[in-house]
Amino acid sequence: MSKFILAFDQGTTSSRAIVFDKNGHTVSIAQREFKQIFPTPGWVEHDPNEILSSQIGVAAEAVTKGKLKSADIAAIGITNQRETTIVWDRETGEPVYNAIVWQDRRTSDYCDELISQGWEPKIRNKTGLVIDAYFVATKVKWILDNVEDARKKAKAGKLVFGTVDSWLIWNLTEGEKHVTDVTNASRTLLFNINTLDWDDELLDLFEIPKSMLPEVCDSSGEICTTSGVVFAKKIPISGIAGDQHAALFGQMCTEPGMVKNTYGTGCFMLMNIGDKPIISKNKLITTIAWKIDNKVAYALEGSIFIAGAVVQWLRDGLGIIKTAPEVEKLVDKTKDSDGVYFVPAFTGLGAPHWNQHARGTMVGITRGTTLNHIARASLESIAYQTYDVLKAMEADAQINIKELRVDGGATTNDFLMQFQSDVLETKIVKPETLETTALGVAYLAGLGVGFWKDVEEIRSTWKSKAFFLPDPETPIEKLLKGWRKAIAATNAWSKSEIN
Ligand code: ADP
Repeated sequence: MSKFILAFDQGTTSSRAIVFDKNGHTVSIAQREFKQIFPTPGWVEHDPNEILSSQIGVAAEAVTKGKLKSADIAAIGITNQRETTIVWDRETGEPVYNAIVWQDRRTSDYCDELISQGWEPKIRNKTGLVIDAYFVATKVKWILDNVEDARKKAKAGKLVFGTVDSWLIWNLTEGEKHVTDVTNASRTLLFNINTLDWDDELLDLFEIPKSMLPEVCDSSGEICTTSGVVFAKKIPISGIAGDQHAALFGQMCTEPGMVKNTYGTGCFMLMNIGDKPIISKNKLITTIAWKIDNKVAYALEGSIFIAGAVVQWLRDGLGIIKTAPEVEKLVDKTKDSDGVYFVPAFTGLGAPHWNQHARGTMVGITRGTTLNHIARASLESIAYQTYDVLKAMEADAQINIKELRVDGGATTNDFLMQFQSDVLETKIVKPETLETTALGVAYLAGLGVGFWKDVEEIRSTWKSKAFFLPDPETPIEKLLKGWRKAIAATNAWSKSEIN
């Protein structure tokens, strides 16, 4: 059997391809950035053909860099930026509009209308999601409403829609296969996560013809084969998952109660909640973690808008550091934040506080406050926000977690990881391979073709690189009380009116 798995990691700013061996080690990697298109404030688009060409380019490059041939690749897995929406012509394969990216806010007003019409509870129960421009359905509707002839053609069955995984597979199979997996489907606002099928009532609501939709498949299994587009040999595509879902699998969070948190610009936290959906009482999202061998695992998801971005702000906004890692030197100069708390609600507060009018708030400043304290309070805010989301998850799932698995750029910060462990009073585990997204979909693809026999076999290769244990000396209760007061101050400021 061929010895390697090739993961396509189609992200928001770049396309990457990584070759993994049977131990889950990275053999080679290639990456290419592509253009971000901002037609007007709040709108974000990508050129679907550039997504495709960059992804195919890096796939060939990664295989060549690894000194491999296509025959060495046992299977391909595809993980992708979620919710980004493409509509294309069934006959020509040409997109009718640019990809509308998940960050795009053009349909916010329409979402507000739906909320005021009272759709939220029903949509939450069916899809696990909240009504927000972030998700797919309103983006498809926008294209049908605004691109000339699009609605007419869609009604006539001439247009198809897909998230980025569908778009890549359509092209890799020369239009043979129009498919998506359950994780990507669960981000559309059109997919019922209880029945695991497209929902007719929601299709009616968003005025989207059913003929546009891809077939929904498992996240792992022989889905199709490439048709000679990238490589001469036909290679099975046997794993598909949205990026955060793939990362959860790449962290081997395969049992209920296992959680991963990715510390990038923002944080993305997902908790495996087992084989039944739980609708959150704390405004978290319920999503499908994956479907393997006909068995579905669900997850709760919470995100934090500003995490590593707070360090970027110290660098670019305040100019008190030149590079992100320098923040550690400032923090080392203080034993605590001396009562300073910083709530970095630059774009509002997300789960579980949900206040879109909130803005960054710093409290507790005295004559003795220095830049070091502010740097420390900034890093601590990442850990406190994580605490808030995790506690909401634990409450919803009624599970106390045993450890938190972490990845993402800011996990290189040992202070942050130690403080996170202290605040959560929980072990923090860093995996050997930090490329958890690509690794996760490689695992799914490998399972799909029997490259790995089962999840047990994969788990036996999965290794942690470092861990952090809580320091019992840290005065957690006192610190958390201060954080809660800071959140109250943030909310009070955003709600107060002075005439
Ligand atoms: P993304 O995928 O969102 O671009 P990455 O996983 O690449 O994010 O992580 C980048 C983020 O990590 C940046 O916001 C950066 O400020 C932060 N970061 C990088 N190094 C450090 C560090 N040593 N300490 C704290 N934050 C850091």
